[in-house]
Amino acid sequence: MEQEHNETGKNNGTPHLLAFVAECPAACPVCDYSLRGLTTPICPECGAELELHVGSPRLRIGPWALAIVGFALALGFDGVVALIMAARLIANPATQWQPYGIVTGFTLLTTVMLGGLIFIARTRPAWTRRSVPTQRVLAGITFGSVGLLHVIAGIAFFQLVN
Ligand SMILES: [Zn+2]
Repeated sequence: MEQEHNETGKNNGTPHLLAFVAECPAACPVCDYSLRGLTTPICPECGAELELHVGSPRLRIGPWALAIVGFALALGFDGVVALIMAARLIANPATQWQPYGIVTGFTLLTTVMLGGLIFIARTRPAWTRRSVPTQRVLAGITFGSVGLLHVIAGIAFFQLVN
């Protein structure tokens, strides 16, 4: 499906691309070189292959990106903590169950954050077709929920240790 789409774009898009850059000022998206007078769909300056795309000023990826960043930050933190604690426990096994419980907790959090990240990444069109204020509210709720989940987990882990 994706391959077919790219093939169609490649075969039929080139004349339109050349006609577009002949009439409108456009720069290479890679090196910013002016594409005026282009005769092949390749940048004469940097050699980048060029394609014609459809854009929309309504497309705002900021709120969606904020939701991605929320999950990515948490994923990075939880993953590193889980790995370090697991490595310490393997090197120096504990006699109590609590350290194992905390490692399990961080591993669960890492898994949930990875799932959230993949879900948000895969549902980008469902995000961006909503109104921008709705997207901002959703991004705030997502970012806040990730933070709240970590506050709750932090309190729970602190209770386990003490
Ligand atoms: Zn270029």
